[in-house]
Amino acid sequence: MSDCLFCKIAAGEIPATVVHETPTTLAFRDINPHAPVHVLVIPKEHHEDALALAEAGLAGDVLSTAAAVAAKEGIAESGYRVTFNTGPDAGRTVFHAHAHVLGGHPLEMRLG
Ligand code: AMP
Ligand code: ZN
Repeated sequence: MSDCLFCKIAAGEIPATVVHETPTTLAFRDINPHAPVHVLVIPKEHHEDALALAEAGLAGDVLSTAAAVAAKEGIAESGYRVTFNTGPDAGRTVFHAHAHVLGGHPLEMRLG
């Protein structure tokens, strides 16, 4: 997608602090971190949301990369959260599927 921020990051056209890369995914630091570790994992291919990612057979790749990021960032044992925001009530702003990997301190669980 020509007008997609995360497609541009995947193509190297917009800079990002990459922490991990696989043939199908890219992980980079969130520009506005909400936790000591806040990394976004995207599929390199454009897919709109988590459902599209699952239908393309790429959800497992994104989750494996999330786990690899947690290991690299040293939070695999202390714990972390993997979140897919979907729709306006979740505050979603970028419409290229992405998982947030959050950790590095105790995380609040706000349900509503
Ligand atoms: P969401 O609300 O789930 O759509 O999350 C989008 C995330 O992308 C937010 O946490 C933003 O801080 C993050 N973000 C936006 N632009 C960039 C960028 N250029 N590099 C890294 N993260 C970004
Ligand atoms: Zn895209």
